Order: sequence, then structure tokens, then C-alpha cells
Amino acid sequence: MSGKAFKLGIMGGTFNPIHQGHLVAAEFIRDEFNLDEVLFVPSGKPPHKDSNEIAPPEHRWMMTVLATASNEHFSVSSLEIERVGESYTRETILQLKKIYPENTECYFITGADAIAEISTWHKTEDLSQITKFIAASRPGYKLDIKSIDSRFQECTYLIEIPALTISSTEIRKRIKEKRTIKYLLPEAVEKYISKNKLYG
Ligand code: NAP
Repeated sequence: MSGKAFKLGIMGGTFNPIHQGHLVAAEFIRDEFNLDEVLFVPSGKPPHKDSNEIAPPEHRWMMTVLATASNEHFSVSSLEIERVGESYTRETILQLKKIYPENTECYFITGADAIAEISTWHKTEDLSQITKFIAASRPGYKLDIKSIDSRFQECTYLIEIPALTISSTEIRKRIKEKRTIKYLLPEAVEKYISKNKLYG
């Protein structure tokens, strides 16, 4: 197919819960990489994770919808939360490629700490051929491109996002300690957490 490629950012993460750091990162990267759309894909059953600390997928999906509703370039997919069994990024990208136009270029965006572990991911054989990666890091976290799996060095971009000083772990801890989380996440998400008694 000829013409300009459709540039799709795929924002993968547990979003447990989604916060302003994720939103600033997605918007900053959309602008920096000229992406046509950023699709948030909350993980269903994240590989390698103890699910006790993780809110049910339906709640994480709903919070992601609430958080992204006002940005015309953002959308949310329930593809991973509807999948039975473990969720692998390769499967997600292959499924999205069937839905989006043929000339779609994929940019998988996630935390730099997750990308640093990419050599431990399952089913990565042709992953570097079907997507590029954008590794978003918190200030102070330095990911050396040479330290990641050599197959992914050429297709990975590293980008530091100051707003990622906010973290889901810190938000969950503050909720447990009954401390304020105001302004760390969108108000609608804060209210949703309180109404559904999540993370308490
Ligand atoms: P995670 O443990 O939830 O997050 C790891 C780190 O990255 C945390 O510091 C997290 O901060 C940050 N982070 C997560 N998503 C982010 C995003 N979209 N933008 C910026 N920072 C982000 O990581 P995970 O959810 O397990 O994995 C990340 C993605 O990689 C998911 O889409 C997952 O499905 C995929 N993955 C795939 C495989 C596989 O295919 N085999 C294996 C592992 C991971 P916060 O806690 O503040 O979010």
C-alpha cells in the first residue's frame, strides 16, 4: 500500500492504576514521534506477576477509559483483558495489525524497566520486525541501550519523562496509608478508586 504510514502508539502496561505520569508520557511521545493515535492496552493477566496486588482487569480498563476520554488522539483497547490466559505483546501486536490499516507502523510504548527485561519475555522471535519500542524512563533511571537484548537495540528508543516520578506503586501505598493522592491521577480516576474501594 502506498501513501503515508499510519503511526500507531501502543501504550502497554498494567495501569494499576493509571496516573498523570502515564498520560504525560503518552502525550509527549505522541508529539515527539508524530503518532496518529495512542492506543492504551491494559494488561489482562500480566506475565511474571503475582496477581494479589493487581486490581481486576475490568476496573483497570475502566480507569484507563476515564483517564483518556478527553484526548482525541487517545483510545483504549480491551483486547488483552478479554484474552484468556497469559498476555503476550507479540499476540497483541499481531491482532492489532489485522484491525488497523495495512500501512500501520507500530510503536510499543512502555516503562524502561519492562523493556530492560525483554530478554525474559516469551514469544519474542519476530517481535523486533513487527514493532518499534519506546522505553519511557523515570528521572534517575538510566537504561543503557547496550544492556538490552541485542535484537532490540536498533528498534528501541529511550526517552526520559520527568512526570514519571509519579508511580502506581507509590499511589497504591499512599491509598493504603490513607494519604492524599489528589493531582497524582485524574480526578475521575481518584473518585472511581474511592467509590469501588480499590487498593485499600
Ligand atoms: P509493570 O511492571 O507494570 O511496569 C514496569 C515499570 O514500567 C514500572 O515502573 C511502571 O510504572 C512503568 N510503566 C509500565 N507501563 C508504562 C507505560 N505504558 N508508560 C510508562 N511507564 C510504564 O510492567 P508490565 O505492565 O508488567 O509490562 C509492561 C508492558 O510490557 C505490558 O504491556 C506487558 O504486557 C508487556 N510485557 C510483555 C511480556 C511478553 O510479551 N512476554 C512480558 C512482560 C511485559 P507504573 O507502575 O507507575 O506504571
